[in-house]
Amino acid sequence: MILKHAKIQQKKFVVLESKIEINNTEEKKTTNILPFDLNFEILIPSGDSRTIRVILEITVNSERSYDEFVIYTRTGAEYHFTEELSKESKEYHALLSGSALPCLINQTRLYLKTMTSYFPIGEYILPMIDMRDLLKQKSREQIIEQESQTEYRKRKNSNTWHWRQNCSKYPKTNYTTISSKPSSGKLCKECEAKSDK
Ligand SMILES: [Zn+2]
Repeated sequence: MILKHAKIQQKKFVVLESKIEINNTEEKKTTNILPFDLNFEILIPSGDSRTIRVILEITVNSERSYDEFVIYTRTGAEYHFTEELSKESKEYHALLSGSALPCLINQTRLYLKTMTSYFPIGEYILPMIDMRDLLKQKSREQIIEQESQTEYRKRKNSNTWHWRQNCSKYPKTNYTTISSKPSSGKLCKECEAKSDK
């Protein structure tokens, strides 16, 4: 078989934060399936469109309902696209959701299995996740929104917010700034027109 390299390659896997302990109460409540939750973020370092970072947060038994593992981990991975792909293309998103994210989840599963194997109650294996459902819950729009945090600016003496740097009224001096969509004030019509392109 001649193997073809994927258009996305992993450069790094890191454990950013990790807390693993065993909950211990008088009751000794146990279960076969510990409740767990997962969240992820996709970040693009500015000035390098071919690199992406995925940050994954996993919590297990966070309410301490069971006398078993209580886990919090934050892991991250860096990937490199071997060719320039449009961020709007299906292929780009397929590589993100079908390769980058599952790869990081698997590595985190292995990390947790290894770490917990030293505990007296035995190893913890993170359940397999329904990826299609996970991605449905976190829509494509949401993923993209996190990639490009938009900066909103308004002049100190005005209540109109601008977020397109190519807007003729985009404030360059004497402005206040926020990083999420403003809930008060007006949105600039010119910026709005530029967003539609
Ligand atoms: Zn504007």
